[in-house]
Amino acid sequence: MPLIMITNDDGIDSPGILALREAMSSLGRTVVVAPERDNSAVSHALTMSRPLRIRQRESDIFTLDGTPTDCVVIGLGKLLDTRPDLLVSGINPGPNLGDDISYSGTVSAAIEGTMYGIPSIAFSVAGEPPYDYSMAMRVAVVLADRVLAGKLPENTLLNVNIPEGKVCRGLAITRQGRRLWENSIQETFDPWGRRHYWIGGGTPLRDHGEDTDVAALHHNLVSVTPIHLDLTNHPGLNLLRRSWDIGKMQEDIGGGRQEEAGS
Ligand SMILES: [Mg+2]
Repeated sequence: MPLIMITNDDGIDSPGILALREAMSSLGRTVVVAPERDNSAVSHALTMSRPLRIRQRESDIFTLDGTPTDCVVIGLGKLLDTRPDLLVSGINPGPNLGDDISYSGTVSAAIEGTMYGIPSIAFSVAGEPPYDYSMAMRVAVVLADRVLAGKLPENTLLNVNIPEGKVCRGLAITRQGRRLWENSIQETFDPWGRRHYWIGGGTPLRDHGEDTDVAALHHNLVSVTPIHLDLTNHPGLNLLRRSWDIGKMQEDIGGGRQEEAGS
């Protein structure tokens, strides 16, 4: 029976993680290690400035007073007695599309799992609160079953976004699009009349590339994006190597001369 580790960024009491646990329990033994509180938009943060405390809620359900990445690190290192066959993160209430991915705690937990060589999937549902997780649960079972049956490409996780039940029209394999936000800095005043800022809300600017995650959700399709951990722009690397005068730059830095002086 496969061992499936479950985490999220919304906290242990989020309806999304309860739905994901229920879905995954049809495929194997589940172990939940999730943050105590909402950690949305913490990205890939790792807590190094204070100790972390684990609390066991019930058999195979643990909480940690840390980030999603902390949960994966402590879960794999200290809580699970064997290596999981799969790590799933979510189900996040609200999509993680395009540029959202770099802020997302949901996706970062799957990145951390991938760094440990564990097949990992991040799930998010798009729609309006209160979210209906029924379609997302069905999609999670189908995709988790598929990943358990065969390998993902190396150093690659899946970022999955699901439209809410009634509107879902199918599934597309997509690339990461762009999704920048307009008017997402709210300027207001505190009770003492001092100006302050709150980041949130605003309107996403839509990527019009038809093969993107953003477009798939716009067309009410489940979006499955393979995300690679290597952030290197390989054509860019070749371009810089060809077009920059590296020798001249080294001369200007004086690195060679310093090395000579030291030898
Ligand atoms: Mg979240």
